[in-house]
Amino acid sequence: MNSFTYTEAADTTAATAQLAGNLHAQFIAGGTNLLDLMKENVARPNALIDINKIIGLDQISTLPGGGLRLGALARNADTAYNELVEQQYPLLSKAILAGASAQLRNMASNGGNLLQRTRCYYFYDVNTPCNKREPGSGCSAIGGYNRIHAILGASESCIAVFPSDMCNALAALEAVVNITGPAGERAIPFADFHRLPGDEPQFDNTLQHGELITSIDLPETGFNQNYAYLKLRDRTSYAFALVAVATGLELKDGVIAEARIVCGGLAHKPWRKKEAEDFLKSKTPSRENFETAAEMILEGAVGFKNNEFKIELARRAIIRNCLSAANFNK
Ligand code: SF4
Repeated sequence: MNSFTYTEAADTTAATAQLAGNLHAQFIAGGTNLLDLMKENVARPNALIDINKIIGLDQISTLPGGGLRLGALARNADTAYNELVEQQYPLLSKAILAGASAQLRNMASNGGNLLQRTRCYYFYDVNTPCNKREPGSGCSAIGGYNRIHAILGASESCIAVFPSDMCNALAALEAVVNITGPAGERAIPFADFHRLPGDEPQFDNTLQHGELITSIDLPETGFNQNYAYLKLRDRTSYAFALVAVATGLELKDGVIAEARIVCGGLAHKPWRKKEAEDFLKSKTPSRENFETAAEMILEGAVGFKNNEFKIELARRAIIRNCLSAANFNK
């Protein structure tokens, strides 16, 4: 591991100023991913700026116009078990509790969950080429072992997937990410926060260097009547998703008024297809309609040698989870 300096930031202004002045500095909150990356020599910051003591960023509070603000430093476990989250956004609670382990959820921050890096094996192996770790070096996964990799939105540069469960629910809820940085404050709609790899897979998201996530806002609508989260993985706990699906439905008079379907484990970002959700509007929540939506979501899916099974697995998972959200299985 490289040597690095360690400082604690007292407020967001000091934190962002320290980071902005040093291209090789990084913020640290829970450290559940960053410390692993440092131990494996994948991340080599020369300075860590600890943001844990910034007052107020660990709060979960109601918003004046309805909705909920999740502090970036609130822990994943505290968020999942927060009474308001459980009542109004049970899809988010379920998704968070499907991720990692109890110990990691106790430590991991909400902001850090959004910023976690891919679990592609080659990304963690510094002896192999990886465009995400070292731009221009190549992608070992494309011709290598790629069972956990992307079937949607991949590029010739990178076929990695984004590993978060929490973010699938945040995408379904159309959360907004609040940022502060050297250029001031801004808010990013969740769909625009993570990005596809293109020819710059080293960038996972649209944050600029020096910017800090301060909170995540949830809108008033939480789909707390008809929702389901399904995570399919190799072990029943402490494993990343091969396929995950977050579904929220609003049903009125027996038809779908609003549908949100977000898939995890399939792409470089939570995967959402607006056309499929629009197709479901004013339709009955039937197997046939969910089958059509699943086909639309998976349109253009391409498997590599070891992950072709994901296409059919995802199709079945989407249909099953949508039926589950519509309470068809009760
Ligand atoms: Fe690196 Fe992406 Fe290829 Fe994995 S899939 S080896 S992260 S470039």
